[in-house]
Amino acid sequence: MRKLLVLACCAFGPLFAAEPSPLIIAHRGASGYLPEHTLAAKAFAYAQGADYLEQDVVLSKDGVPIVQHDVTLDSTTDVAVRFPGRQRANGSFYALDFTLGELRQLRVVERFNPKTGKSVYPGRFPGGVGEFRINTFEEELQFIQGLNRSTGRRVGIYPEVKLAAWHRQEGHEISKAMLVLLEKYGYASKTDACFIQCFEWEELCRLRGELGWKGRLIFLTGGKSPWTDTTEGLREVAKVVDGIGPPLFAVAEGRNLTGLVARAQAAGLQVHPYTLRNDALPKGFASAREFFGFLAWEAKVDGLFSDFPDVGR
Ligand code: CA
Repeated sequence: MRKLLVLACCAFGPLFAAEPSPLIIAHRGASGYLPEHTLAAKAFAYAQGADYLEQDVVLSKDGVPIVQHDVTLDSTTDVAVRFPGRQRANGSFYALDFTLGELRQLRVVERFNPKTGKSVYPGRFPGGVGEFRINTFEEELQFIQGLNRSTGRRVGIYPEVKLAAWHRQEGHEISKAMLVLLEKYGYASKTDACFIQCFEWEELCRLRGELGWKGRLIFLTGGKSPWTDTTEGLREVAKVVDGIGPPLFAVAEGRNLTGLVARAQAAGLQVHPYTLRNDALPKGFASAREFFGFLAWEAKVDGLFSDFPDVGR
């Protein structure tokens, strides 16, 4: 029996090998260098050595999961020029009001403020430049698995269920649509290179319960939260999810650790804070590299969302 186990471990060793720490999660791809969530930004992050590539997922009118951070298209595409008059009463253009065929006609550009037209991060990729397109969640899974095959690496995926309750109000079930694709592409258990992330606690419980997701789950928080402020809260959270994704300021204020990482890890949770940005460093750090070192070796985070996946590699 022991011999069999040893053989199995040799055959399947890489499947069970410990993951690097901290994991570098490419936030919307290498979004510090190329427009977020484009396949170009994903390929760049992949080549820079990211361990996981993030997908924010929303639905189209015809129910297709697409990779896009906002449920609106205003800040990252030319929708206002391409489809004038298709905005809702609040002035915003929603992905859910456009079929996939229509979404494919849009150009994706560097994130900008639709009121002023100015880039959100002025030092990044030039605004309005390039021929980038929206891609579906399925296309991105094929893209990453294709790269894994051609490189022999095992880079993971990190999909976020966006505004599940809102999608439901609008008559759509986003988690179910995503799970169909995850199953199709072989992401099912905790040893698969996949974390599903979500800000909505009810939806995480639903994924784990009713929807039967057996893979890893990350609970995103906005900062102060009754779930993460107390040890009891963290223990409850750990019954459902594998880790938490707090904002960086919940982990450390300047160089002062808040203690959240240690408390969460003691409750059995991984901690993957967001987001390292070279062009928006907290006070007290001279470079992104120095900040990365602090998060890795002093704060001891298990993973880190980064717009600049090369930092730390
Ligand atoms: Ca996200």
